[in-house]
Amino acid sequence: MKKFISLLILLAFCSTSISAQNLSSKEKKIIKSIEANNPEAISFLKKVVNINSGTMNPEGVKEVGMVFKDAFNNIDFQTSWIDMPPEMNRAGHLFAETSGNKGKKLLLIGHLDTVFEADSPFQEFKMVNESIAHAPGGNDMKGGNVIVLYALKALQENGLLKNAQIIVAFTGDEESTGKPLTISRKDLIEAAKRSDIALGFENSTGFNYATVARRGASGWKLEVEGKRAHSSGVFSDRVGAGAIFELSRILNEFYNKVKGEEYLTFNPGVILGGTFVNLDEMTSKGDAFGKSNVVAQTAVVKG
Ligand SMILES: [Zn+2]
Repeated sequence: MKKFISLLILLAFCSTSISAQNLSSKEKKIIKSIEANNPEAISFLKKVVNINSGTMNPEGVKEVGMVFKDAFNNIDFQTSWIDMPPEMNRAGHLFAETSGNKGKKLLLIGHLDTVFEADSPFQEFKMVNESIAHAPGGNDMKGGNVIVLYALKALQENGLLKNAQIIVAFTGDEESTGKPLTISRKDLIEAAKRSDIALGFENSTGFNYATVARRGASGWKLEVEGKRAHSSGVFSDRVGAGAIFELSRILNEFYNKVKGEEYLTFNPGVILGGTFVNLDEMTSKGDAFGKSNVVAQTAVVKG
């Protein structure tokens, strides 16, 4: 997700707000590790934020990846860096994995790249008070990556990763994916197929929420061609109804038959019809020419 305003963070390890009496002894140990490691986690975050990793700076993205790779090696994960073919101009991805068959198989997803390219004026991690920092790509999403790492480190320190299958996938091209997707997302999809549950650590709806589903969006365009003829012939077998009537008929069917599908919305935003139309895709502006005594030859709608 592109977030041009990237404000961070305290690391979301708010252990003080968790009521300790409801926790098991194992959970209490995990909290202890997390608290003990919190200063280190923040300096780790500072270190990776201060390496520029705009998507179009593949060397920087890989450098950030290497810092995480070492850190995952240190908590006994098997790590690998997957390069993308040079013509794709993307850094590649970091994978880290523990193998076993105890519990659910987890896939933890992050990304190493940010929207702040090397020429952005916003490049440095800066604490603004004792719990909040401003950092380029800190919220989106080096902070999330650091949470993944230090959550797993706390489990590892307490011997809780033994025989568990956990895959960490940090892609290097989330903000602007390498094409084709069949190559740039191949390894992530394969990791997902080996997992029961996938969790993304990019914050999207606030620190206290997990998002279980999101709507996607796409665009559509309908173009109709009719026969240009004198309007006295409209509706005849030879001429037909013309492009404007036909486009209206299709839109009306769309409205009547598709409307009401759960979670689905669709919206025609601009429409042109006549003898000639000209719709500029870039500006979403256009013009049309037609006469009331000529059957419309062309019509277009975008939604
Ligand atoms: Zn993101």
